[in-house]
Amino acid sequence: MSADSIALLHAAIRTVPDFPKQGISFKDITPLLAHGKLFSLTIDAIIDTMGGQRVDKIVAIDARGFIFAGAVADRLKTGFVPVRKKGKLPWHTIGTAYSLEYGENVIEMHRDALAPGERVWLVDDVLATGGTSAAAAKLVGQLGGELAGMTFLIELGFLNGRSVLPSGVPVHGVLIY
Ligand code: AMP
Repeated sequence: MSADSIALLHAAIRTVPDFPKQGISFKDITPLLAHGKLFSLTIDAIIDTMGGQRVDKIVAIDARGFIFAGAVADRLKTGFVPVRKKGKLPWHTIGTAYSLEYGENVIEMHRDALAPGERVWLVDDVLATGGTSAAAAKLVGQLGGELAGMTFLIELGFLNGRSVLPSGVPVHGVLIY
């Protein structure tokens, strides 16, 4: 992906101060999504990070991760596996709790979402503290999936979310803040 293209994507992200609460600079992806060519370029950029490796399933995180991961899975003709907040998935699930700034959250995956040994790539919109993705990686491992890599459209580098992600799994941020 050229530096010019990355700059175009950067320019389409809107930073909204103090949303959803005081002190958070929210990265709003909706201007990028609304622009057909830039949305498509975003999917190109995410796929670029995967370096042509064989992947069986894209695992995506509720909810904004679904937007990008669905498009990536369609392009690559891979399966799509949703990781959702507790209580949203209808079938038998496995779940894990993780810490948020205040309190705890639980995410779940269907118990039959992955076959042992399947190669998985995780896609989400933003890597912030890394708690959500670390929890999702744990679920992939519990089902016997092989996590080949993770790509985030936006990485908030100053929060050092990478430090809580499993070591040895390549992590890519397309746009670094
Ligand atoms: P975390 O578990 O802290 O890495 O946060 C993960 C999720 O929170 C991401 O999937 C984002 O959807 C959301 N998120 C966290 N911080 C931000 C932010 N500054 N702007 C937009 N979304 C965010």
